[in-house]
Order: sequence, then C-alpha cells, then structure tokens
Amino acid sequence: MKEKKFPALDDFRLIAAILVVAVHTRSTDSEILWLLTVLRRIAVPFFIMVSGYFLARGNWRATGKFLKKTAMLYGVSILLYLPLNYYAGQLSLDFFRRAIFDGSFYHLWYLPALLLGTPIAYCLTRFKPEAAIPIAGILYLIGLGGESYYGLVSGVPVLATFYNGIFLVFDYTRNGLFYVPLFLLLGAAGIIFRRKVAVIGLLCSFVALIVEALLLHSSGIQRHDSMYLFYPFLMVFLFSLLLEANQGERRNLRQLSAIVYLIHPWCIVLVRGMAKLVGLTGLLVENTVILFLLVLASSLFLSQLLLWLRPSRPFQTGRAWIELDLSTLRHNVNQLQSILTENCTLMPAVKANAYGHGAVLIAKELNHSGIRSFCVATVSEGMELRRGGVKGEILVLGYTHPEQFSSLRKYRLTQTVIDMPYARLLNAYGKKLKVHLKIDTGMHRLGISADQPERIASIFQMKNLAIEGIFTHLCVADEKTVEKKAFTLRQAEAFQRVICNLNDRGLNCGKTHLLSSYGLLRYPELAGDYARVGIALYGVLSNRRDLDDCPIALRPVLSLKARIALTKDLHTGEGAGYGLEYVAESDRKIAVLSIGYADGIPRALSCNHGKVLINGYEAPIIGRICMDQMIVDITDLPDVKSSDIAVIIGKSGQYEITAYDLAEASGTITNELLSRLGSRLNRMIV
Ligand SMILES: *Cc1c(COP(=O)(O)O)cnc(C)c1O
Repeated sequence: MKEKKFPALDDFRLIAAILVVAVHTRSTDSEILWLLTVLRRIAVPFFIMVSGYFLARGNWRATGKFLKKTAMLYGVSILLYLPLNYYAGQLSLDFFRRAIFDGSFYHLWYLPALLLGTPIAYCLTRFKPEAAIPIAGILYLIGLGGESYYGLVSGVPVLATFYNGIFLVFDYTRNGLFYVPLFLLLGAAGIIFRRKVAVIGLLCSFVALIVEALLLHSSGIQRHDSMYLFYPFLMVFLFSLLLEANQGERRNLRQLSAIVYLIHPWCIVLVRGMAKLVGLTGLLVENTVILFLLVLASSLFLSQLLLWLRPSRPFQTGRAWIELDLSTLRHNVNQLQSILTENCTLMPAVKANAYGHGAVLIAKELNHSGIRSFCVATVSEGMELRRGGVKGEILVLGYTHPEQFSSLRKYRLTQTVIDMPYARLLNAYGKKLKVHLKIDTGMHRLGISADQPERIASIFQMKNLAIEGIFTHLCVADEKTVEKKAFTLRQAEAFQRVICNLNDRGLNCGKTHLLSSYGLLRYPELAGDYARVGIALYGVLSNRRDLDDCPIALRPVLSLKARIALTKDLHTGEGAGYGLEYVAESDRKIAVLSIGYADGIPRALSCNHGKVLINGYEAPIIGRICMDQMIVDITDLPDVKSSDIAVIIGKSGQYEITAYDLAEASGTITNELLSRLGSRLNRMIV
C-alpha cells in the first residue's frame, strides 16, 4: 500500500533545462541537428505550462507573488548579464526596449514574456474564462505569422505592415503577448487524457510537427523557428502524460533547473574562453557534442554550488505538523454561504489560532475568498492577524485590559463592550474606539442584560465609543429538545426587542449578529448581518451525532502528522513508556512518534485508547503518551522504518481518523481537541 512517489513534473524540469542548454550550444550546419532543435524547443512551453498549472491550482491567488518573483529574478539576471551585453556592444539606447520587450540577453526573453503574458492570461481567466483559451489561441496564431509562417503573410501588404508594426516594438512574436498566454492557460487547464489517447496524440502531433517544420524550413519562409502550429498539441499531450504520472515534488531539482536555465549562457562564454586560453578551441568548441557536455557539466556544477551556498530554511515537516487543505476550506465557505439569508455574510471565528489550524494562514485565505470580517477572542490574536497582513474588520469578542486599549487603535481592532462598567472604562480611555455591544439574552456570560434597554441606550451617549455593531450569543442552539429550541427563540426575540427599542430611540446599532455554527445550521432564518461561524468552517461539528441533521456537506480542513523517530523490538515481558504501563505479552515491534501531549494529543488516548495510521495501516497507541513522544505497536505492519510518517488525524490508504474519533476517545468535543493543537506544530498548506 505504500506509495511510491514519482515527481514527474519536477523531474521533467531538469530534462527541459538540459534541452535549453542543447538548443543554445547547437551548430546550425546540419539538417538533422536543426530538426532536433525543433524538438528541443519543447522546454520553454513546458516551463510555462507548469507555471500555469500551479497558478491555477491555487486559484490564481499567487499571481502577484509569482510576478514579483519573476521580476526580481529578471532584475538579477539583467545585472548578471550586463558584462556580456557590454562585451557584445549591446549597451545602446535600444537596450532598454529590448530589456522590456525581448529580454536583455538572448535566453532571458522568457522572463519579460512571463511578466507580460501572465497578467494577460490572468485577466482572460477572470473576465472571460470560457473564451480564455480560444482568445489565447488566436493570439498564438497571430504570433505564428511573425515566426515560422512569416514568408506567407508578408506577401500580403496589409499583413506585412501589421507585422512590421509589431517588429518596431518586439524583435519576435514569440513573446508575452502571442506565445505565453496560450501555454500558460493550457497548463492551467491541467487536462489529463486517458493514457492511450495521450500517447497516440503525442505521437501524431510529433509526426505532424516534424512534417510542418521540414516543409516550412525547406520553403525558406521562416523568420524564426520557435513557433509552430503543432507545438501546442504536442505539449498538451506531453503535459497530460506527465500530470498523470506526477506524484509529490522534488524541490531541489526545480531550483536546480531554474538556475541552470539562467546561468548556462555564462557557462558557454566561460567554456569558450577557457578553450581559447588553452588553445583547444578546435577540439572543445567546434564539436557541438563536446561543447554541449562541457557547458552542461559546468552549469550543473555551478548551480548545485549556488544551492549549497544558499542559506537553508527550517524544514517544515521534520517532526510533527499540520497540513491544511485550502480547497476544502473554500468548499466549506461555499456550503455555509449557501444557507445564509440575503444580506448576511460570514464573520469567521479565527480565535484560538483558528481552532488550531493557524490563524493567519486561514484568515488570509478567507480574505482571498472575499471575506472581510473576522472575530477573535483576544487583542493579541487580533494583533497577530494584522501583523500577518489580514484585511478587514476584526472584532475582539472577549475582555481587553485597559493597558491594551492603545493596541486596539494601533491595530484597528473592534472591541466588544462586555458590560456597563466596561463601557465606561472604554469611554474613559479618551480616544475614539470602535466597539460592538454584547447583549446577554440568557447565557449569563459576557454582555449587558437585554432587560436594560435604558442602560444600553445610554452607551450611545458616550462620545469616545464608535458603536458599529450589536450582538448576542446563543447557548443551546446545538440542542434539539422542545424546551431548548424555545429558549433559543426567546433569546433571539429578546435580542430583536433590544434592537427595535434602540431604533425607536433613533439610535443606529450598526451590524447585528447572533448566530455561530450551530445557530446558522439550525436557525438560518434568525440571521442578522453576520454569522460568526467557527467550528463548521473547519469542516467538523462539535459532535459526530450532529452530522445526522446537518443540512450541508462539510469536509475537514486539517490533517495532523508526525515522523517516526525510531522503531525497536520489544521482547516478551518487557515494558514501554512511563510507569511501564504497557507490557509486551509476546515479542512486539514498536515505533516511537515525535509528537506528544504538549502538541495537543490528548493524554487520554494512552494505552490502546487511540490509534494512528502508518503507510495505510492502523497502529494502536500503547503505553502512556509522553509530553513530546508517543509509542505505537507496529508488529502487524509491513516494513515501517524511521522517518516514515504517522497520520494522527487524516487519511492513509483506505483508513481515516477524524477529529471526532479523537474527541470521542478523550471525552471532549472537536472544538477543544482542535484548538489545543500546539504551537510547536508547523502549519502548512498542501
Ligand atoms: C467562539 C465563538 C463563536 C464561534 O462558535 P462556533 O460554535 O465555533 O461556530 C461565535 N461567537 C462567539 C461569541 C464565540 O465565542
């Protein structure tokens, strides 16, 4: 059951980079070598398609980041190649035009092309998604006219003028306008054909491309040979095969191939220079194969050297970590929005580190989905969100010490008025503070009693309080008995009476809200302006039994995983862990996991009250769970070894362990279980 990972996309990047080196070290004399060049040019479309594929998988949210990174890379590359530009006498005024539209050095055209083509592709997917690929296809066809088919179109005077116009700006039509959008969008489409179809398609388009290239080449109408009609077809089938095979990633190879791409022209110059220096130009440079091999070897060596020298980043999945599936989060948001009444929007509860999920990661993703208001429990949670770049309204639901009122202003947080004396404290701060009023309608926790409309109204006179909302909290919305349902409705009525009373006095309450997860699921019709949804957003309810009458399909966002530190044998009669609580009744094999109760694993799961998943099998927890480790029995599992991954919450093979399983085994609700997941865990998006 163990998965063998084959990161086909990353592996092919290196092949593609080698192909680029081959293109640039070719000699143009022989027909056969020329034909190979045509095939070697699949490298760049592949790079573009991979970028499109990953941008689209992230719903194009990373487009800005991608452009920034590309621009930075291009800036560095321009500097890197300035000496060669100088040497080649290219530092004229025209240099700036070329740097913007064609690339400051011959292989660098790819980067400015991405900078222009990516926004075009992005706009097409945003504003005309169904027409995006056809439009990009038309652009590509126009580009063909300035490339391999130039001789045909330049015979028509209008077209000749048209293309001459283009060539005033661009040197080639293989650029960000005509070339990049199509490949980017084809990659974004991520089409996977049945294997047979893809293989046949690949072969056919391969033959067609060769025929096309030979015909065009022999007819002598080509202006440049980077664009052919059959490239996009070839690429779609090739990409389909790679995508189908793709599993996992090989980050190092990805970076290595990018650096090889960027530096190999320097290596060409260096190899040539060296050859000249030692008087071996004839042997080393004039032989294309030897030149290619020398350049490739030196590029790979230098690139690897750069990777080694680079400062290392902390390894995220070393010990124990949380994986977040953002597509699932978006799914839950959509499901919840589908039951909201008109004018009501989500105000996600991202308190307690977003119920253990990672507050900044979650809130920023919600920002991207258009969500503009959040609630947290404490002022420090609000500050963390702001520091992480979260936009919109952030309501602090709980008590804030007067010493921290300044932080409310500094971080543009909205404070809850938790009772009358607290209202006076806030007002006495002396500077304007944004607040929501909390009304107690029967829970008797925070809030000003709903029976005191006079006093509530008096808060509106406090001149330092900017009252932007009013809310209450339901305390039995999750219960189904007749009495509890009646109680909930009475809470809602009491809240409504307060609002009407204030309105009658001509006071504007701002946003009104009372529903949390269960409130929204059971009483969507009570909604005000916001629904403060917490647990449901993360794809679970508090108790499994409540799933029965849940009107929407929620999916868990979080998986929890840990490394196996080591495995060892336990002989009959030997014990394991604190108190030697576990004693082997027969020879056993055990594994020590690098996660413990300090990471939020309930200690109640000790001694066979829980299990984990390893390589698609179940392994029971034995002995007492420690602060930083726990022990599982792997006797019945095939070849488990150190550094294998154990799944504590999530799927492995055909098994799944849910937050419900852990909560039930430890006598609590999922809310507590999740929100206690510790700060030592790395949190990452998958
Ligand atoms: C935590 C909290 C919520 C969110 O509750 P869920 O049941 O997780 O949806 C809403 N309102 C208040 C006041 C809260 O404290």
